[in-house]
Amino acid sequence: MIPPTFDYHAPRSIDDAVKLLGSLGSEAKLLAGGHSLLPMMKLRFADPKHLIDLGKIAALKGIAQVANEIHIGAMTTENDLLRSALLAEKVPLLVEGAGWIADPQVRSKGTIGGDISHGDPGNDHPALMLALDASFVLKGPRGERVVKADGFFLGLYSTLLEPDEILTQIRVPIPAAGTGWSYQKLKRKTGDYATAATAVTLQMQGANVARVRIALTNVGPTALKADAAEAHLVGKPINDANLNEAARLAMSICDPTPDQRGDADYKRAMCGEMTRRALQAAHARAVKS
Ligand SMILES: Cc1cc2nc3c(=O)[nH]c(=O)nc-3n(C[C@H](O)[C@H](O)[C@H](O)COP(=O)(O)OP(=O)(O)OC[C@H]3O[C@@H](n4cnc5c(N)ncnc54)[C@H](O)[C@@H]3O)c2cc1C
Repeated sequence: MIPPTFDYHAPRSIDDAVKLLGSLGSEAKLLAGGHSLLPMMKLRFADPKHLIDLGKIAALKGIAQVANEIHIGAMTTENDLLRSALLAEKVPLLVEGAGWIADPQVRSKGTIGGDISHGDPGNDHPALMLALDASFVLKGPRGERVVKADGFFLGLYSTLLEPDEILTQIRVPIPAAGTGWSYQKLKRKTGDYATAATAVTLQMQGANVARVRIALTNVGPTALKADAAEAHLVGKPINDANLNEAARLAMSICDPTPDQRGDADYKRAMCGEMTRRALQAAHARAVKS
């Protein structure tokens, strides 16, 4: 299927991209890897008259440590995340998560910024960002603002991004030494979105949980942060009873859409199972380190 016609723009700087987006208004769309936008255009769910390709803006690419954070340019691809020695050492959860995304073709072009900006509850980065307590740098004609991942995802394909803003950078605090982590994703086949998935970061103090963040993929209109499950675990050991209760609390906030991956009850149950497994794996890594 062929997308509708559009004018193509390829700015070389973030400022030029912001100006273009401001002047072209609602007729324009930003193009990153194109793996969500182009399918939507082919299906006529999107019909932008102008595409502003961010691919030629060098300042939007790369992964670097800045003090206690990792800064990732929005146009950094999934493959760049997978191959980053810095991320493997400092934020391995992001490497594990990127490896679960789609298939090799999508990972070679798809970007972390596009994955986050799209606001698709099936995308994996939103839950990873919530589990990592990341922040996003948004730039528009009124300047730059930094917003937390927690609160950024508003609903189905809806985020805090204003139509004239560009997500330029993702900032991930480097987890403290001894932090366990895991992303557990159930998918039917290579290249599929999650039936359900859970991202966890976890720190222990002695035998008890000191801090935990739990975030869920594709079981609601956005990625969901399982606050009640987190609260239940803090100050307690990881054992069957506490895992079961955390899984039950995570399941209680799910509102999945039935589709070819299963009905709502099945997806809710799989969310519970992914949550249990992610907590177990994160705990094993936390006590080993
Ligand atoms: C077969 C298939 C399977 C997939 N499976 C998965 C999966 O399992 N998990 C997963 O997470 N994803 C999956 N995806 C989606 C894929 O990861 C996309 O690449 C991603 O959703 C969008 O990133 P992109 O760089 O391709 O963005 P694009 O498609 O170019 O853009 C997506 C949207 O975000 C906007 N946008 C892009 N960049 C910015 C920015 N910097 N600032 C503001 N707005 C911006 C665009 O205007 C557009 O509206 C799959 C895609 C396909 C085709």
